[in-house]
Amino acid sequence: MYDFDLFTIGGGSGGVRASRMAAQYGAKVALAEERYLGGTCVNVGCIPKKLLVYACEFGDAFADCAGFGWTPGERSFDWHRLIANKDREIARLNGVYEKILTDNGVRILCARATIADAHTVVAGSERYSARYILVATGGWPTKPSIPGGELAITSNEAFFLPRLPAHAIVVGGGYIGVEFAGIFHGLGAKVSLVHRGELFLRGFDDDLRRALALEMRKRGIEFHFDRTVERIEKLPRGIRAILNDGSALEADLIMCATGRTPNTRTLGLEQAGVKLDREGAVAVDSYSCSSVPSIYAVGDCTDRLQLTPVAIAEGQAVAETLFHGHPKAPDYENVPTAVFSQPNIATVGLTEAEARERYREVDIYKSSFRPLKHTLSGRDEQSFMKLVVDRETDRVLGCHMVGTDAGEIIQGLAVALKCRATKAQFDATIGIHPTAAEEFVTMRNKS
Ligand code: NDP
Repeated sequence: MYDFDLFTIGGGSGGVRASRMAAQYGAKVALAEERYLGGTCVNVGCIPKKLLVYACEFGDAFADCAGFGWTPGERSFDWHRLIANKDREIARLNGVYEKILTDNGVRILCARATIADAHTVVAGSERYSARYILVATGGWPTKPSIPGGELAITSNEAFFLPRLPAHAIVVGGGYIGVEFAGIFHGLGAKVSLVHRGELFLRGFDDDLRRALALEMRKRGIEFHFDRTVERIEKLPRGIRAILNDGSALEADLIMCATGRTPNTRTLGLEQAGVKLDREGAVAVDSYSCSSVPSIYAVGDCTDRLQLTPVAIAEGQAVAETLFHGHPKAPDYENVPTAVFSQPNIATVGLTEAEARERYREVDIYKSSFRPLKHTLSGRDEQSFMKLVVDRETDRVLGCHMVGTDAGEIIQGLAVALKCRATKAQFDATIGIHPTAAEEFVTMRNKS
């Protein structure tokens, strides 16, 4: 009756997972993608970002090695080589995504697709009917509308800069702003981060935010908190950002990392009866179904957690719900997350403030220490760990860390929180010595 059982618009993490799994469950599936397979994560997000983070952290290795007896030779850094190698890897991943889809029998349409009605998609010059339509169109960086705003780049362009800036202004204190501040600084640029709040990374545990700000300051990143950029002017060489306190910053690059908006405009969603929220995100129920029963949406085009693994979980759940006889709602409890700053921060569960709002009595355990490596490297850097515990049940509600490999460490602890582990069970766990992670099972003193 329909051309396809599922027509997916958008070939990012969520769309690809849903399409591939739906096809594996026996559905006839098409996926339209107008730009690049793999979406934000693969092309202008997580993957290239992490590669740039690796690049920027070699400077630390050179600086730290002297205390271990090494004398590093002359060194130089070639931005073009890094970007070319990164682009090659991304092209390989684009191919991997294409293969995943075609190997599973998903028909890929390299075209912009729009929705004509509840069961019809127009892709390029063709019309297709579909039993279900999945909107997985992701998000796009936004810039504040200020005079000269067009002079600012976003993270999309940052991955393809013709050269590394000597001085970069980063606007925004979210994940992207903090990560790019670290990348530019680690590769040798002077960095000024402008953020409208009194401290960056709103939503993370306050101790973590403070500890990271301290470490980034020590490294030489300049913060302008409680400030906004009012205007950007072009200079003969570079740009000038005028802040709301009247001060000015001159640099050769300004990057806005002030959030992302859902890619839902001009898709035909509203005409098809799909409700959007005020920010333009597709309003969905817990099964990712929109206000039109045949149209679903996953990932950053909805207003849930903007994280790749979450989009994948949502796509998986849609495929299971529609084509596997197993209605499934993704679980958003205890989703771990990391910011790949220097040092990393990572977190799972409730912040202290959230826990104090929801639970009667909360115990806090904190540890701040100099990592073993830095006893010889001489680097002035502290790691910080924190556990948030419900006193009544002894259940660990939150684990938070600033320090090397925090993301790697918190991922394991996320399993413990998912299993509703208690502090007594953390304490009964033997540590791996000597690691930083063992600190999480040896914290005995409440703070
Ligand atoms: P975020 O929403 O995380 O941060 C946006 C930042 O910009 C906030 O500090 C916000 O301030 C500020 N801001 C927003 N609007 C304005 C404005 N008009 N003027 C000045 N400042 C403004 O967005 P990002 O763009 O950093 O990242 C988008 C999402 O992508 C993240 O939330 C995250 O979910 C995901 N992501 C995840 C990564 C990871 O897992 N490591 C890496 C990168 C992105 P305020 O706090 O006051 O609102």
